[in-house]
Amino acid sequence: MDHLGFLHEMEKATGEKISACYQCYKCTTGCPVVADMDIYPHRIIRHIILGNKDRVLGSRTIWTCLQCTTCSVRCPNDIDVARIFSALRKMSVREGRAAERDTWRFDEIFLESVQRHGRLNELGAILRYKIDKKDLFSDTKMGMGMVKKGRIGLMPHNIRDRKGMEEIFRKAAETGKRGSGEKE
Ligand code: SF4
Ligand code: SF4
Repeated sequence: MDHLGFLHEMEKATGEKISACYQCYKCTTGCPVVADMDIYPHRIIRHIILGNKDRVLGSRTIWTCLQCTTCSVRCPNDIDVARIFSALRKMSVREGRAAERDTWRFDEIFLESVQRHGRLNELGAILRYKIDKKDLFSDTKMGMGMVKKGRIGLMPHNIRDRKGMEEIFRKAAETGKRGSGEKE
């Protein structure tokens, strides 16, 4: 793959004109979690243009991102940076280079729970995640404390319009924004 190959791959996967970026930093200056990132958002875009795929897919930045879309709104070139980061996460998992595999797994479990119940079933999601990690007993004390204080519900609370929620997930999967557990 030539050095533009990664850029073309990302532009095709996201539909975004990444090459239009002129490094104004507005995405980075508006990001609320930039202090926790190992590579600034505008630098991620630059690395894509330069074809530094390994650097980008192995970065913690794409997992630190909260998908708040502030960067996308601020970009003077209408580049949806948040969407690019979301696509990078999927690509990094698919290619076995994810720096934060656990974050991805929790994200999947979270969305599957919302799809099923209409809102998060906290206890179910936590148990699934712990079983997945084969780590059932760490954090038990904190978990019990949260149950006692009512911060974690024991039973799922389904919303009335669960079919409507299914429809939202179906449409999101169709537009490529997000699928139910699907990896792009
Ligand atoms: S705000 Fe847009 S143009 Fe500016 S650095 Fe970020 S991605 Fe590039
Ligand atoms: S979407 Fe991600 S990268 Fe963009 S401003 Fe929000 S946290 Fe930062």
